[in-house]
Amino acid sequence: MDVRIVVETTFEDGETQRRNIGRLCRAPDNLEPECLGLRIVEAKNLLGRLQEAILQSQIDEALAASRICDDCGKRCGVHDDRGRTLDTLYGRFRVKAPRLRQCACKSDAVAAKVALLLPFNALFPDRATPELLRLQAELGSRHSF
Ligand SMILES: [Zn+2]
Repeated sequence: MDVRIVVETTFEDGETQRRNIGRLCRAPDNLEPECLGLRIVEAKNLLGRLQEAILQSQIDEALAASRICDDCGKRCGVHDDRGRTLDTLYGRFRVKAPRLRQCACKSDAVAAKVALLLPFNALFPDRATPELLRLQAELGSRHSF
């Protein structure tokens, strides 16, 4: 048996994206109890790839919206597209999050050339999801120092 696991994402603009996140192969003649269903290593691997696919899709969509200038409606240029680290409940992930140039229509043209917009930092100032931060605070409050 061959199982392919695919994530299909449909964005607000109607675009659909498919990502293969895993594949499981099971021999038809090997029906031993330890080979039924997912093993813990396979489950962790698939969960990590699923989290990574969902994170990147959400960040891509949010950042695409933040590229539109509020004043003139043009798209801001991308300064660089290096990855950023994001800690989640399911591990640490590296996501693509571009730094944007400020739109040329801004009044202070000199500052506009230098200033960079960091939409990823605005979304995740602590480079961690709020769910993880809340859990860490709760667990930390249970321990005495
Ligand atoms: Zn503008």
